[in-house]
Amino acid sequence: MNDFMQDKIWQILYEKAKSVINERKISPLMEVGSVGAAILTDKGNIYTGICIDTACGMGMCAERNAIANMLTNGENKIIKVAAVMPDGSSGTPCGVCREFMMQLGEGSEDIEILLSLEPLKTIRLKEQLPDWWGKNHE
Ligand SMILES: [Zn+2]
Repeated sequence: MNDFMQDKIWQILYEKAKSVINERKISPLMEVGSVGAAILTDKGNIYTGICIDTACGMGMCAERNAIANMLTNGENKIIKVAAVMPDGSSGTPCGVCREFMMQLGEGSEDIEILLSLEPLKTIRLKEQLPDWWGKNHE
């Protein structure tokens, strides 16, 4: 990643996450695309995902959808995560997404999460999931 991208990475992730938002009802029981997420990997690639809301709790948050996209493409190490809500604000990961990211393994505790673009505020996953239960499962 060059210096320009390093300086602008949160803006880039925010815009990528926002760009996949496309809220639509695709059946009486399924609505998708109200939230968008973008993740930056250690290889400098960005993967996106949208939320999938269903009946019976089968849906998936945008963050986990982006992670599935990353895994599908052969990567597994996240550096940064941004999610954008329907109103344009930054979304912080739910408990399931925090746990999902933590289970990706070594270095996951240092994943940086966007809380606010302006002013820029971020938080590390370990701060959102202190005293994580899985530490002894190396
Ligand atoms: Zn979630």
